[in-house]
Amino acid sequence: MEVSPVRNRNELVLVAGGAGFIGSHIIDVLLGEGARVVCLDSYLTGRPQNLRHLERDSRFDFVEGDIVDALPGEIARAHFTRIFNFACAASPPHYQADPEHTMLTNVVGTRNLLRLAEEKRARFLLSSTSEVYGDPEQHPQREAYRGWVSCTGPRACYDEGKRAAETLTFDYQRAGRADVRVARIFNTYGPRMRPDDGRVVSNVICQALAGDDVTVYGDGSQTRSFCYVSDLVEGLVRLMASDVKDGPVNLGNPVELTVSDLVERVLRLTGSRSRIVHRPLPVDDPRRRRPDISRAGERLGGWEPKVPLQQGLEATAAWFADEQGHSGRREQFVEIAAE
Ligand code: UDP
Repeated sequence: MEVSPVRNRNELVLVAGGAGFIGSHIIDVLLGEGARVVCLDSYLTGRPQNLRHLERDSRFDFVEGDIVDALPGEIARAHFTRIFNFACAASPPHYQADPEHTMLTNVVGTRNLLRLAEEKRARFLLSSTSEVYGDPEQHPQREAYRGWVSCTGPRACYDEGKRAAETLTFDYQRAGRADVRVARIFNTYGPRMRPDDGRVVSNVICQALAGDDVTVYGDGSQTRSFCYVSDLVEGLVRLMASDVKDGPVNLGNPVELTVSDLVERVLRLTGSRSRIVHRPLPVDDPRRRRPDISRAGERLGGWEPKVPLQQGLEATAAWFADEQGHSGRREQFVEIAAE
């Protein structure tokens, strides 16, 4: 077993991008373990409401700033022992809205945080992505697969940005400048996604709850594998506590389904009468994606996702129903789901 016990008690941890979907869940877990946490976020895609429940927590601090810029003085002066980097827009419409900024966030922003980690002798975790595999020719994707990525297409700012971020991170590791961990995160869903995030789970749930047309891009035969956020966060915390510095680790749920299957499930679960409409498939949209998680299982104490898709979708839809004020809908579909 290569996972050391979590040693976060009284540690000071920086979570860059902590107002976002995954980062905010990580902060909750770290605080629960007794760590003190500082969140650095630009609010480009992160949201204040993801952290509102922490307003009175004396062990939590928030600093507004963009990792692309010089780090704020209070961040540069603090004695962090661990640094998580979640700071980057992650959904295709958001990261493509300002591709130059996306690229710089991954390259310049990651470098700024690596330098901080070097100076503080803090352990650094990079949230990388399954997008480093591009439109994969190998299936499922293992960490050793080098990917099939377009370096000129509209997804490249994110895919190539994250690839460059991984390169920088392992260069710091090789040079003995930082102690690093790299997670390749596959499609993740759950409470605190933005309703306008643009990704399939949030789009389809919000459309189904509102009775709007549900958008399927292309013919819906492309596949993805969806991991519930609590499973992912458990993997990330274990990775940070582990000794796995010799390469990236895939984190995701290997249960694969087509986009059409996912849409059908959401429509059944919500009892929605929304129509399905087809929209053009985005350029370079990967046809298949599924993580091989054997490395995570072996190196992270048997980690594997536990939350079944149905249960995760129910929890996510219930959360969106509350957030979006669909009064009555929550009870209705929870009853349907129980039948
Ligand atoms: N997608 C869809 N309808 C939507 C949003 C996305 O059919 O309203 C498709 C998208 O083209 C892709 C899959 O769902 O094939 C997953 O897209 P998402 O943006 O969630 O994640 P990613 O493409 O980054 O895996």
